[in-house]
Amino acid sequence: AKKQCKKSYHFYTSDMNIEMLEKLEIENSLRHAVERNEFLIYYQPKININNENISGVEALIRWKHPNKGFIPPNVFIPIAEETGLIIPIGEWVLKTACRQIRVWQELGYTPVYISVNVSVIQIKQPNFVDMVKGIIKETGIKPYLLELEITENAIMEDFELTNKILDDLRKLGIVISLDDFGKGYSSLNYLKQLEINVLKIDKSFVDDITENNTQQAIVKAVIEMAHSMDMSVVAEGVETWEQFKYLKDLQCDKVQGYLFSRPLPLIEMEDMMRKKKKV
Ligand code: C2E
Ligand code: CA
Ligand code: CA
Ligand code: CA
Repeated sequence: AKKQCKKSYHFYTSDMNIEMLEKLEIENSLRHAVERNEFLIYYQPKININNENISGVEALIRWKHPNKGFIPPNVFIPIAEETGLIIPIGEWVLKTACRQIRVWQELGYTPVYISVNVSVIQIKQPNFVDMVKGIIKETGIKPYLLELEITENAIMEDFELTNKILDDLRKLGIVISLDDFGKGYSSLNYLKQLEINVLKIDKSFVDDITENNTQQAIVKAVIEMAHSMDMSVVAEGVETWEQFKYLKDLQCDKVQGYLFSRPLPLIEMEDMMRKKKKV
């Protein structure tokens, strides 16, 4: 449809320009989105594979654009990263998540731990560690209830520096997890040097774990290696009981995915937590 349109009257506008225009538009409205309160956080539970209880939740940002509706993070996060807007946006997510931890801590909800995705651009800000420290202090949360998820690729981009920052973050007592493991190109040698707490196996491995022997062998090896390094393992994007069963047999620790729940708005997440709450 786009091509036809270009031929008939937009012959002077390349698809490239349309794309750039859209990007610019998003960038412009992104600039004001924090102050205009257009962001929300959805929560997706992480399920303990042995007892099927909720063991924590991941915070996933949502942007409700005033006239475009919901714009998915896969669209606006890369733009936010390119423009540096990820810094105020990321700070908003962290603060909001930590305030929520505090509320749940007080209400006695289980679980209370929240994991927050952080971009490599954020963590490379010279004041990032102090900022996190400040938020923990200000909200009065127990640091181990906050987990930061950082992608494998982000770490490998600049291993020495990010490893040092992750070290400083861990010294604050927070939990660090390696997101999207297996999607990128990290070498196991590097992994051995990283002192992280949690490894999240990328959805692409989970997708064909029930069909593909090679994938099974890889996942098995990854889980064993992670355990030998004292890490716990979360599988992402689990959609079927069959996948769940395979992961359980391989002694994966937690699963996350549509099988148990999609990411939910705060009220629905709290509802689910209340129902699953153990006395
Ligand atoms: P991610 O951190 O790998 O998050 C997992 C994504 O997979 C989420 O997409 C989640 O909704 C989706 N998902 C969970 N379970 C299933 C499943 O069973 N099947 C399928 N098909 N998908 C599943 P979402 O929320 O659209 O987020 C996409 C990405 O955007 C995230 O990937 C993360 O990289 C980024 N992101 C989200 N929130 C933030 C944030 O606050 N800060 C930063 N820097 N990045 C964020
Ligand atoms: Ca994540
Ligand atoms: Ca992930
Ligand atoms: Ca991902």
